[in-house]
Amino acid sequence: MITAVLPTYNRAPMAFVKGEGSWLTAEDGSRYLDLGAGIAVNSLGHANPALVAALTEQAGQLWHVSNLYRIPQQEKLAQMLVDKTFADTVFFTNSGTEACELAVKMARKYHYDNDMADRVDIIAFEGAFHGRSTAAIAASGSEKMVKGFGPLMPGFRQLKWGDEDAIRAAITTRTCAVIIEPVQGEGGIRVATDGYLQLLRDLCDETGTLLIFDEVQCGVGRTGKLFAHEWAGVTPDIMMVAKGIGGGFPLGAVLATENAASGMVAGTHGSTYGGNPLGCAVGAKVMEIVADDAFLDAVSRKAAQFRQGLEGLVASHPTVFEAVRGQGLILGLKCKALNSDIVKAAYAEHLLTVPAADNVLRLLPALNIPEADIAEALARLDRTALRIEAA
Ligand SMILES: *Cc1c(COP(=O)(O)O)cnc(C)c1O
Repeated sequence: MITAVLPTYNRAPMAFVKGEGSWLTAEDGSRYLDLGAGIAVNSLGHANPALVAALTEQAGQLWHVSNLYRIPQQEKLAQMLVDKTFADTVFFTNSGTEACELAVKMARKYHYDNDMADRVDIIAFEGAFHGRSTAAIAASGSEKMVKGFGPLMPGFRQLKWGDEDAIRAAITTRTCAVIIEPVQGEGGIRVATDGYLQLLRDLCDETGTLLIFDEVQCGVGRTGKLFAHEWAGVTPDIMMVAKGIGGGFPLGAVLATENAASGMVAGTHGSTYGGNPLGCAVGAKVMEIVADDAFLDAVSRKAAQFRQGLEGLVASHPTVFEAVRGQGLILGLKCKALNSDIVKAAYAEHLLTVPAADNVLRLLPALNIPEADIAEALARLDRTALRIEAA
């Protein structure tokens, strides 16, 4: 018999009742160290006092009003994002998937309005993840996500990750847009090189193609810069943001240049909930904390400590782990043993990790994880590896 909750997830049996910082308390009272952070969502840890205060203060005033009216909390957060990034304008969504929908619509509308209505083809990459809507699964192209859900939205193709010849051959003056995660999350924590992002920017500029960065997972401080593409010194025309920006409140955004957004006039797009006062009050507090040089420097310091420890684990458990991947606190352990077995063994050590494609174990702790918790995580990962070796 089907469960009351549609059974689309492979869930572990634990349920959590309370969170504090990088720790979660299960129903049985036991505590788990959380290196998943709701898949890069709880960017400032669980029950962060500053976020709780921002949320409850706004909750006592006004939760929701329609976008039929001005929303000052939304204007404030949009201005913060515009001030800190390449973007001139922002649209708020509730999720990364919805951000993908708008990014695709915006790119196609741009060319339509520039008298190139047939310029609809969007280039994406193998291993990509952009969400679960029909546009987002068409962009990913992954068999697991698209099978049985056809007909797929037309106009998407996937190139091999990092293949310079393939992208040179693929981008033409008929291409609508290129969409890429500067650091692939679900695809196995694969970091695009600075040179590759620069090549994409150059080819897009030469052909009038729009460049879309999906920073839903790697953005909002996770790499040690506010956005991952800043490391490469390359900016997109359109950028998708979600996950970490709400710190646990469902919030997403599309950031764009004035040029790329020029087709999105009144009536062309909308959202009932997107950018409501509650979400934007929390988002503004997250931004206030994360978009601070000292905070971002601390992310890089913690990341260096974590990474060094992980390199040690790879050296001491060569039959379990193969290599460390990632940038900042979006880290992956490429595994020799099966990643799903390691995730399970880590549960036994009361440590939460997330599997990714390419047999990778994903580590996405809160950006403000204390150094002592990183040391504890490394000790638990060591014991996890010993369990796998003993099995
Ligand atoms: C999670 C994710 C999405 C989809 O976001 P949802 O909020 O789950 O809709 C899109 N792109 C990337 C890179 C993601 O990691």
